[in-house]
Amino acid sequence: MAHRTSPLPREYDALVLGGGIAGNALAYHLAHEHGWKVFLYERGAPGGGASGKAAGIVSSQCWNSWDVKAVETSRREYHRLSREHDPTLFQTTGGIRVVSTEKGEEELELARARLREARVQVEVLSPAEIGKLLPSANLEGVRAGLHTPLDAVVAPTDLTLLYGRLARENGAVVESDLGDVRAERTGEGWSLSGERVHAEAPRLILACGAWTKGVLSTLGHPLPLAPYLTRACLLKAGQKRAFPWVHDADLDVYVRPFPGGDVLAGDGTELKEVDPEHLTPSSDLPFLENVASFMERRFPKWASASVGSSWHGVCVSTPDRRPLIGAVPGAQGLHVISGFNGFGVMRAGASSRWLADAMAKGSSPELRPVDPARFPLPYPPFEPRPGFTLEP
Ligand SMILES: Cc1cc2nc3c(=O)[nH]c(=O)nc-3n(C[C@H](O)[C@H](O)[C@H](O)COP(=O)(O)OP(=O)(O)OC[C@H]3O[C@@H](n4cnc5c(N)ncnc54)[C@H](O)[C@@H]3O)c2cc1C
Repeated sequence: MAHRTSPLPREYDALVLGGGIAGNALAYHLAHEHGWKVFLYERGAPGGGASGKAAGIVSSQCWNSWDVKAVETSRREYHRLSREHDPTLFQTTGGIRVVSTEKGEEELELARARLREARVQVEVLSPAEIGKLLPSANLEGVRAGLHTPLDAVVAPTDLTLLYGRLARENGAVVESDLGDVRAERTGEGWSLSGERVHAEAPRLILACGAWTKGVLSTLGHPLPLAPYLTRACLLKAGQKRAFPWVHDADLDVYVRPFPGGDVLAGDGTELKEVDPEHLTPSSDLPFLENVASFMERRFPKWASASVGSSWHGVCVSTPDRRPLIGAVPGAQGLHVISGFNGFGVMRAGASSRWLADAMAKGSSPELRPVDPARFPLPYPPFEPRPGFTLEP
């Protein structure tokens, strides 16, 4: 529990609600590049939402050129932050998506062409070539793999905390765990108030991850967002050598190397909407069984590794899988950064920088494709769509 002894200043240039990677990175960019007075409030532990649950894969194997640019820009920023502050934050491992069907191979070729057009370093590997990069893999049945050698893995919680620290060092007030606060319209601006918090500013940015949908509804400005569950686990594999992250497109399981010789594994998502305020997640057992059978098939060496931990987190989807970043239509001074469809760590650095630029300069061409106003009213319900996929 945080305790403060001096009263907080009340007037800011911007209020940020939500202290995941998006909120903290935004507070940093607003304070660092634009000298704004920023107040960020996180109601739980910083990074305690999806950011602290993420696998930390940063991959250019995205769906379209906007996403690729967002990943590339974020990747460079994370690499720089790691060099300047903490070498354990970032590691270039490369990444490989393998396919075992003819259709998968066709999709993989299309993805390669798409990525080349977006100037991503990418190649299609034969099973023999994949085997050289993944000596522990059993590639029986695999027809090809899409390899992006510049892909990386990061430590998402540490990155989130670093953004918060740098925001503070640049003058932002970053607070957490002081009870619930209420976001309200106050005259021309916005306020955040609770028992131990009161702050006002002309602008409020909602960076509440999966909870953004509920906050927007309470404020009377709903947007099309669908929160959903996704799971991951750590296996005590004793794998000392780093290896590229791998996603098996047909079995829909991914693995990445993790510090200390562990292997982090995750599978797709539960493609149905959940309410993050009232979660009743089912048991992790089917997920762990799926990971176990994947390991027996693809990485037999790790199949007997014990499970160190397993967990779930809530991500949030939009109808077109692109995030919602920018001004909320019809609500003066209200902005949003959410809807990352399970790929928020890899796109938060760039997205938050572009949002900070847009707010400080009035607009940003980078944000046009993710404008929250792109969906016509009314918003029909929609099912979350998978994140890890070769489809455009
Ligand atoms: C198992 C798993 C694996 C993943 N793997 C990857 C991956 O490999 N690569 C990748 O790019 N992404 C991955 N993701 C997705 C990624 O974690 C998210 O897209 C990203 O963390 C979203 O960041 P955020 O800041 O928008 O949201 P969050 O991290 O969820 O932050 C939102 C914060 O807002 C706070 N909040 C909510 N309501 C309020 C309120 N009313 N007042 C104050 N605070 C509030 C919450 O407590 C939370 O801390 C994964 C997610 C999961 C669950």
